[in-house]
Amino acid sequence: MIKCKTCNLPETYETIEFNKKGGCNICHSNINLKKKINWNKRFKELIKIINLYKDKYEYDCIVPFSGGKDSTFQLYTIIKKLNLKPLVVRFNHGFLRPKTIENTNRTLKKLGADIIDFTPNWNIVKLLMSESFKRKTDFCWHCHTGIYSYPIRMAIKLNVPLIIWGEPLAEMSAYYKYDEIEEEDEEKFNKVRNLGISSSDMKGMLTASGYKFDARDLLPYEFPDYSEYKKNKIKSINLGNYIKWDYNKNVNLIKKELGWQSDELEGVPDIANPFSSKIECYMQGTRDYIKYLKRGYSRISQNMASELRNKNISMEKARKLIQSEGKVPPSLKIFLKFTNLKEKEFNNIVKESTVYPHKFKPSKVKAKKTSDFDQWYKE
Ligand SMILES: [Zn+2]
Repeated sequence: MIKCKTCNLPETYETIEFNKKGGCNICHSNINLKKKINWNKRFKELIKIINLYKDKYEYDCIVPFSGGKDSTFQLYTIIKKLNLKPLVVRFNHGFLRPKTIENTNRTLKKLGADIIDFTPNWNIVKLLMSESFKRKTDFCWHCHTGIYSYPIRMAIKLNVPLIIWGEPLAEMSAYYKYDEIEEEDEEKFNKVRNLGISSSDMKGMLTASGYKFDARDLLPYEFPDYSEYKKNKIKSINLGNYIKWDYNKNVNLIKKELGWQSDELEGVPDIANPFSSKIECYMQGTRDYIKYLKRGYSRISQNMASELRNKNISMEKARKLIQSEGKVPPSLKIFLKFTNLKEKEFNNIVKESTVYPHKFKPSKVKAKKTSDFDQWYKE
């Protein structure tokens, strides 16, 4: 496979394109365009936006929150640096790991903030996982949609129109260029978040598959009506468009200031997860494994791409770490139970969506269980 000479991401990576010199469009955006941004000016723009909302509503803003590194940094910045009174809203996808729950409790106590923690009906989550896996080999439709639509629905319901999200998508993909200001609005939701499946599409698919459910069960995953969004003057911004995002720096800050703790990640040696990405969800190992089967790269490649762009590691060392990608994660068995699939059926579904020129080849090597494996909910 063709790989970027700077970040080593392969041609099967979503949105990647290569230039004549062998570099990629994501590197160009993340390195060159990011460098040119006047961050002082951007920060002033942020303050201008904030001043339109501060002290005018029950809360100054909503902070969508998982308890991972980015949303913890967001919340810290919003309370300690921007002096806002936020309402924390968590769409709990149902797979939070014990360390993330501990981190969240500690963070909320140390920072002092109100939280609404919403967990949707587990039986519906399972249906959604099965359906989106079979349709798109991505079982996270419930999470991709819920974590964006639910906080925006709450912003409308509670009349707290400013919502502050974390890093822009340009940090890791080329859906947007880094110098563009992204908004988490309906356009972005339909373009990159919902896998091209709206909640009414999903209702039709579930019905066609013979599942029984109440139409209201899908509301948490539904982007609010555009007229409501407009009428309530919702402003849904990414902090990373106004404050320069640096994973390592942000993680070091929350560790020091909040006692936030890192965790193991299935299939990824600690050394290959330097900025503690994706440690919140215990289905992450299976998600990464599917990506590996389809596209020939996985979480380690993505982490290394970021480290290579920031010159934190040599290409040689990065490639060595990447060699350990693709082992079968212990969480796969749990996933197969949730979705009522045999491993062979799982492999057949994934094989169908292999991205050329990668060749589908399931591994025989098993990844190590993480120490919290026994605490994960299983059926
Ligand atoms: Zn690149």
